[in-house]
Amino acid sequence: MKMHTRIILAMILGLVVGWGLQTFAEADYLTKTVMKGGLEVQEQVLDPESTRAQWLVPFVMAADIFMRLLKMLIVPLVLTSIVTGVAGISGGKEFGRLGMKTLAYYLTTSMLAIVTGLVIINLTQPGVGAALNLAIPADFNPGEGSSFLDILQRMVPPNVFGALSDNGQMLQIIVFALLMGFFIGRLGQPHKDRMQGFFDSAFQLMMAVATAVLKLIPYGVFALVAKVVGETGFEVFKPLLTYMFIVAGALLFHAVVVLPLLLKFVAGISPIAWFRAMTPALMTAFSTSSSSITLPATMEAAEHRGGISNRHTSFVLPLGATINMDGTALYECVGVIFLSQYYASTGDFDLTIGKQVFIVMTALFASIGAAGIPSAGLIMMTAILSALGLPTEGALMLLAIDRPLDMLRTMVNVWSDSCGAALIAKSEGDAILATK
Ligand code: ASP
Repeated sequence: MKMHTRIILAMILGLVVGWGLQTFAEADYLTKTVMKGGLEVQEQVLDPESTRAQWLVPFVMAADIFMRLLKMLIVPLVLTSIVTGVAGISGGKEFGRLGMKTLAYYLTTSMLAIVTGLVIINLTQPGVGAALNLAIPADFNPGEGSSFLDILQRMVPPNVFGALSDNGQMLQIIVFALLMGFFIGRLGQPHKDRMQGFFDSAFQLMMAVATAVLKLIPYGVFALVAKVVGETGFEVFKPLLTYMFIVAGALLFHAVVVLPLLLKFVAGISPIAWFRAMTPALMTAFSTSSSSITLPATMEAAEHRGGISNRHTSFVLPLGATINMDGTALYECVGVIFLSQYYASTGDFDLTIGKQVFIVMTALFASIGAAGIPSAGLIMMTAILSALGLPTEGALMLLAIDRPLDMLRTMVNVWSDSCGAALIAKSEGDAILATK
């Protein structure tokens, strides 16, 4: 059976098992305070004593092992791939050209995603009069929001090993890897060849391990989907169902209309064929909710199923997994405007055009600054809310329903990275979809 068929079957099977457990195994939920991105959050978690939780143990374990295997690869893969990718081109003009193309694609598609979200949320206005039960306290004092400059400042790692030991510090690792790669390309001999050879071999080694781990995708996807569906209390979704549909619709529009149009008309690549080639990565993104964890799958699919040369995947994709998040960008805009519409309808807030423009710009920076880990986008949303002078409570409420939306936006994030890689590689002469 083909890999993508196996993955889709695994997902369906996971859904069925998850639904079965939802329906037939009893469960209680406990409210627990957990720390997320430095914030205290109330979360509904399955009571570990309940029957369903006990049935779920094997799925939770299998899913965790799969996630750990992928997480294990992130840092060495990002480091070695960017260093090799950059060292190979740092001498010539190609570096600047590839860098400019990559940045231009990433910024353009993120902006297109934000504008899609902006139009849809303004047309549908789900926040107006929503039953959210939130109010701005009279003595409310918004904290400092994190600005573009903060993100820029935090990109520089004060300690390389500190950054390398934290999967959430991908931007710092990228900055270090870019510098290493750039200067390896400019070293004198014999050091240049030695260093380049070393990183090249280390990268090949990591890809070999990744290829072996990725054979497990169908099992991992099955366990993850069964776990997520089995653990979730669907009651919490009800009051926000309209909002969730609108977000899903906007994400879908960007993924199946905007990006395919770019693929088709700018690069002349068949979107359907490209989608098929990327299925393993997209399904991994959907079930793990993390672009960083998905990176090995994205690189493998782009190279071996999509036909992009190693030279291009190793530069474009690790950068994309961290800074190009179309789904997240769209969600920042839609989520913040949804809450603003609500506060505006209760008379506590004035949602002016100026503020909408401000939201668009900060949504872009938030998507660049968000780490490729689950719910990172939602945590970034609290920074935009503070910058607007709104309380962060609203975002915390959205956290309760974040998992399915996170799954979708992560899939859109990875889809956009892969489309960018295809488009850029095609323009550099790679024979896309002529799989090796
Ligand atoms: N989970 C997303 C990702 O890894 C980030 C987000 O929360 O929007 O791409």
